Amino acid sequence: MNRDYKLLLKQHIGKPDIPCVQEGDWVERGERIALVDGRGADLHASVSGTVIKVDSENIVIRGEKPEHDVFKPLPPGDLRERIRSAGIVGMGGAGFPTGIKLNQEINGGTVIANAAECEPILNHNVKQIEANPDEVYRGLLYAMEAVGAASGIIAIKAKHRQAIAQIEKVIRDERITVFPLRDLYPIGEERALIRDTLGVLLPPEARAITVNTIIINTETLSRVTQAVELGRPALSKNITVAGRLRGGPKAQVFMDVPIGTCVGDLIEAAGGIDGDYGEIIMDGPFMGHSVTPDDVVTKTTGGIIVTMPFLQAKAPLGLLVCACGASEARMRELAKKMGAEVAGVETCKHAVYARGSLKCRNPGVCPGQADRVLRLRKAGAGALLIGNCSDCSNTVMSLAPKLHIPVHHVTDNAMRAMNLHLIRKLQK
Ligand code: SF4
Repeated sequence: MNRDYKLLLKQHIGKPDIPCVQEGDWVERGERIALVDGRGADLHASVSGTVIKVDSENIVIRGEKPEHDVFKPLPPGDLRERIRSAGIVGMGGAGFPTGIKLNQEINGGTVIANAAECEPILNHNVKQIEANPDEVYRGLLYAMEAVGAASGIIAIKAKHRQAIAQIEKVIRDERITVFPLRDLYPIGEERALIRDTLGVLLPPEARAITVNTIIINTETLSRVTQAVELGRPALSKNITVAGRLRGGPKAQVFMDVPIGTCVGDLIEAAGGIDGDYGEIIMDGPFMGHSVTPDDVVTKTTGGIIVTMPFLQAKAPLGLLVCACGASEARMRELAKKMGAEVAGVETCKHAVYARGSLKCRNPGVCPGQADRVLRLRKAGAGALLIGNCSDCSNTVMSLAPKLHIPVHHVTDNAMRAMNLHLIRKLQK
């Protein structure tokens, strides 16, 4: 049966792509349909079919659900050109064009494969390593070759024993090691990873490249392998679908979902929504945003989570914003859905503006939250909505309950939908 696939022209940092097809054109899966404009990545048809709409934001293709192996291959080119022309972007959510990231020299530095998957509930990266560790491993070797790295690290939480065992089995190069991470949010944040794996705490304004390091998500590495070895462009995404679904609270992983697939179709494939729900989150509970069933999968989509209905707040909320969590705008949206006034907004004192957004001075290491909690109470907050990391949530919980201030966390509705422990006190 034919379906419509809506491919956004902007699925990466930088400007939207420029369409190079017209309505009525027939396109083959893998064919380039929009060209990069400055910094960005080309866009390729994720299905074969007829282009039924082109506008300034999207290209819509009517086509049949494709087979993984059927696509028009990329033209030949050297390693960097293959990666660039494949239109790959950071699939951990950042959307930084991989062709630009791997078009640098790091002079014998390190490539870190980021398998932290630090958002709760999501597990498509870990599943992918378990299913095809060699593809990720080869992608790391290609990335190291492209940038001139002397070493590679695969950073993955220690709790994922099976995935660690699988990837260790395929490592044949002594330059590559596995680094077991702690199970804390936001351990996969770029500077947190460098701190934990290399022992260097970068200032908020610094980039990984300043210590000759490149960090790249593991699914992105598998797409690099596919581009280099098969000439396969970025056409599909691995996605965790979870939450309030018929069949129970089990995270389901869908591999190779065509870019442009409707969120609603994916939820139906996972069993459909089970009764009333609060919202549909795209990506993880900390950093994700609310979407509708008509929104579509992009190159950076990691999760689709159907949450429990919102509990209504019984008092004005004080918002405590984390540099590595939900933005103030997202927290205000959540407060509204909880039927609450916002009494005040505070930002964690580790959060500073750098490179155009909030960054944490030392991600995941609590600087103390007592003054923020007291300031929010003074502003009239009768309850808190926090977006803090694991360690800071733990700190808030050592004070707020003593002051009889109830605490909500931005992840609550997603975690409740999965019957998981709420982000509050650190679990022993
Ligand atoms: S220390 Fe503060 S800003 Fe940093 S991750 Fe924790 S809550 Fe966020």
